[in-house]
Amino acid sequence: AEHLAAAATLLRRASNLLARSFLGGAAVLPQQWPVGCPQVTFRCWCTSPARMSAEALEKAVEAAQAAVAKQGDTVRSLKAELKEGKIEKTAVDAAIAELKNMRLVLESKQQELEKVAGKGSSQTKELFRAQVSGVLERRLFYIPSFRIYNSVAGFYDYGPPGCSIKQNVTQAWRQHFVLEENMLELECPAVTPEVVLKASGHVERFTDFMVTDTKTGECYRADHLLEHHLEAILEDKKNPLAADAKKEASHLLATVGELSAESLGAALTKYDIKAPDTANDISPPFAFNLMFKTSIGPKGDLVGYLRPETAQGIFVNFRDLLYYNGGKLPFAGAQIGNSYRNEISPRAGLLRVREFTQAEIEHFMNPAETEHPKFAAVAQVAPLLYSRALQMGDEKKPKAMSLGDAVANGIIDNQTLGYFIGRTYLFLEKIGINPARMRFRQHLQHEMAHYSSDCWDAEVETSYGWVECVGLAYRGAYDLTVHSKASKIDLNAHEKFAEPRMVEQFKVSPNRKEIGTSFKKEAKAVTDFLEGMSECDAMELKSKLEAGPADVSIDGATYTITPSMVGIEKKMVKMTGRNYTPAVVEPSFGIGRIMYAMFEHAYYCRDGDESRSVFRFTNIVAPSKACVFPLLNKPELNEIASKVSTMLTATGLSNIVDTTGNTIGKRYARTDELGIPFAVTVDYQVRVPPVRCCLPFGVVVALTGRRSVGLWRVCALIPKALNSLSQTAINQHGSARCGRPTLLFA
Ligand code: AMP
Repeated sequence: AEHLAAAATLLRRASNLLARSFLGGAAVLPQQWPVGCPQVTFRCWCTSPARMSAEALEKAVEAAQAAVAKQGDTVRSLKAELKEGKIEKTAVDAAIAELKNMRLVLESKQQELEKVAGKGSSQTKELFRAQVSGVLERRLFYIPSFRIYNSVAGFYDYGPPGCSIKQNVTQAWRQHFVLEENMLELECPAVTPEVVLKASGHVERFTDFMVTDTKTGECYRADHLLEHHLEAILEDKKNPLAADAKKEASHLLATVGELSAESLGAALTKYDIKAPDTANDISPPFAFNLMFKTSIGPKGDLVGYLRPETAQGIFVNFRDLLYYNGGKLPFAGAQIGNSYRNEISPRAGLLRVREFTQAEIEHFMNPAETEHPKFAAVAQVAPLLYSRALQMGDEKKPKAMSLGDAVANGIIDNQTLGYFIGRTYLFLEKIGINPARMRFRQHLQHEMAHYSSDCWDAEVETSYGWVECVGLAYRGAYDLTVHSKASKIDLNAHEKFAEPRMVEQFKVSPNRKEIGTSFKKEAKAVTDFLEGMSECDAMELKSKLEAGPADVSIDGATYTITPSMVGIEKKMVKMTGRNYTPAVVEPSFGIGRIMYAMFEHAYYCRDGDESRSVFRFTNIVAPSKACVFPLLNKPELNEIASKVSTMLTATGLSNIVDTTGNTIGKRYARTDELGIPFAVTVDYQVRVPPVRCCLPFGVVVALTGRRSVGLWRVCALIPKALNSLSQTAINQHGSARCGRPTLLFA
């Protein structure tokens, strides 16, 4: 136990040093092992010239741009001095030559960035996407469903590495949100009776605008056709748009999401957009409901739908959750589960599918108390924010801003919404989304539902452009209000005042006897109307009644109310508490979209070798944590490998033993493509593993001399070492790519 503790300390120290040495160069750290243990040497080194990450390249491009701008200024001022005869022309020529060189550097950095990050022209993006999805499908991260029957668009199976990664991402989500925030987790059925989705508004309004090919009947999403057309004309370098047309197209592109059917139709006509597959005319846009309808039970008389989101399950359980939480607010309900949307024409791989896993949170709170107790923890987090004002401005670029400032300046509606934006940013970064390619875009005014006062989407840049991966909405009290009304169940919370308060209350007291005599069968409708009046309407009626009888209109019919039929009064009453309908902040995550974005951000090809693909996942999401390689397919090496593997498994580190006997280079290449972060190589001697493997960490177990108890002790240290390393988030975007530190156990 003493030796293990010492080993753990050494390994932790080594791991810190190794992490630092990722910055370049090499470090050799001989350490004396405690007496009685085999000797252990930690080494790390840089194997191949550093390949820059997208983030480092973005910085390099920015630096090169700044250098070009500065040199441009120098050239201008030298030219001015030349005119005044203060300097020779050779000085200007030299400065111009330097400027040209700098421009070449800038260009090459820009090209490199496009290659690494799938940025740049649509052609480069498509090439990058084809490469990434090629590896993902070949290595069975995902598979088009029902492939032997020609598949159906919008459905995908996850294969072995995909399943592991999905598990790891949802597990990380549960840890980051459910456990760290003490949320109340639920699991509800996907089949949902119509009454629930009628109340929520989905039956009436969960629609997208569709157009059809007027000859073939093929269906397309109207807004997508317009978006693709606008992107193409804005990018077209051969036929550049005039300044005005460009401005108009960019503005339309930024606001496609908020167009009505009429405006969308007008824009499709204006740009003469045709069906993409046939170039035939298209129909005007019309609304199409995205829910899959079904019937429940053998008689088929109970209409149901596959849920289009998991959120409704949380709302309908609100009353029980509140009771479970001791009647106290705020609290959050959370659910991970599958949702179903009959997407019109899904053609974007995992990004737009018809069955997908959502992870949703409904944070219930008093609408008068939207502060969050833990907001200070994220106030300094500064993601790229693409506010409404920035989207409508000329530059159309997001800006990094601290969440503290964004809430203080009213850019984000309230602290709780800001808190969840911060937590979402940290989660996405933790699982491997490059923060430089992530932004939070605020919904434009008409994009939001009427009940919502602020919504932000976490968007991630991929080869498909900016993709919404998480929606964060302040939904007010809408959801509980509509479910309370439809179910006739009280979904209010009670707030007890610290001190009793005198509150002005208005009271409507209908005179039922007189109303009954006057209106007979319609008396109930009149009484209900009077009792249901808002304070404002009631006070207006009161002032009219002071002058005599007044007419009211109920469902199109007019009734004359006399002053003796109703008493309306305002008075001060002492109250010890009040009932209110809680408001909701809803962060809604699409797990498949996040995974796909993460795949693209983790992917790169080795320099000069397009066939050597690498996924550099963060340790927490990697599908397997380690690969164990006996150098040769020999019984004595296989025996150690299998023992190491058993030990790794016992400590919860998933691993693969590769005894294929392929060259070690080939086996490293396979782990590269699967994104396995650690390797344990069992060898006859301690040596540096072959260059050009991506593994951020390798362990070489050397079988030198006779096998001894000492060797098994060393093997026992490996899981501990890897376990502690796998908890360490080795920086995804920059460091690990250039080095391959290895622990050598001799
Ligand atoms: P929404 O309820 O439309 O805001 O969606 C919430 C989240 O679910 C989005 O941010 C996406 O990540 C995900 N999502 C929505 N529709 C799909 C789809 N068709 N395929 C995959 N993910 C989706």
